[in-house]
Amino acid sequence: MNKCRLCNTKDAEKKGSHIVPHFLLKRIENIEGKTGRDYELGFTIEKLNAKSHFGRSVQPEKLEETFGEISDKDIEKNEHPLIVDNFFCIDCENRLAVIESEYAKTTETKDTREYESGICSAIGILFWASVIWRMSINGKSGVKLTQEENEKLRQILDCFLPQKLEELDEKGINENGLVKPISYKLLRCCECHVDDAKWLFFHPDFFNPLCLLIDEYVLCFSFTDNFEDIDNKDCLGINELIEQAPINKVDASEKIKPFDNATYKLMTSNLLEIAKEDYMGGLDEFFDRAHVAAGGQENKMPPEIKAEIIAELTSNKKKMGRRYTQEDVNNSIMKIMKKHAP
Ligand SMILES: [Zn+2]
Repeated sequence: MNKCRLCNTKDAEKKGSHIVPHFLLKRIENIEGKTGRDYELGFTIEKLNAKSHFGRSVQPEKLEETFGEISDKDIEKNEHPLIVDNFFCIDCENRLAVIESEYAKTTETKDTREYESGICSAIGILFWASVIWRMSINGKSGVKLTQEENEKLRQILDCFLPQKLEELDEKGINENGLVKPISYKLLRCCECHVDDAKWLFFHPDFFNPLCLLIDEYVLCFSFTDNFEDIDNKDCLGINELIEQAPINKVDASEKIKPFDNATYKLMTSNLLEIAKEDYMGGLDEFFDRAHVAAGGQENKMPPEIKAEIIAELTSNKKKMGRRYTQEDVNNSIMKIMKKHAP
């Protein structure tokens, strides 16, 4: 059996490990209020390899059969792209869970002005490092750290993730040479609507810092306290907000910069523009699957239909309030596909 990716010593016997913590994954993938797996609507967009999936109940009958593949049964079989087997040992999985459940509590605190989330940045660094690191070693979400960066995060996590929260060595973290240069900014849409589409998107053009859009959060994470890319490249149209956001480093409370729903919609719109321009190739596989599932001829959806779906998604004709909801994303795809149905 493989060795655990975190401790490198024990057997990686844990099945069903979440790459993205469950409390975030369920917010990205489920339509709020409907907790059943049937309502999953997840998108993971990454350059050249987009993975997307639908749940069953929100689909017309024909799609039901195929997209039922992400069902409870499959979750049990762990065929979800963000759930993996034999990555970690039982102990390390538990250590990851300890920091997650502590961090999950911060989602309850919200404010319209800059606020403290209620935990120390040491926990914030461990949590967000664990998310980025897992996405990177899983290699399916567009996160590609260098081997050296992966190893740096692994060492930090292996050294400081406690088995019990009471055992957290905050002083050790604050004084550690690998952790000290790390800093991050965290922004959060504090008025996301329950039916706003949520995304998991790692921006491929950003290194200093790494930029991750996850659920209603934007994380900018730097190994070296370097945020210069924010000055030079467009980050979903919210550079100015990121500039204003406080920098979190060890030995302080985590601070979050909130933003409003209109900004969230703008970000989504910019994200879909990227999808439109750069990610068509990446979305191909998904569109083709939808096409086949709907009983389309050949194994590929015609390119003009793909373009039309993207155009529908990014169309400006719709009322702002209704754009980019889970339902809207779903309906856009269905609408175009139905239009072209024989
Ligand atoms: Zn382990």
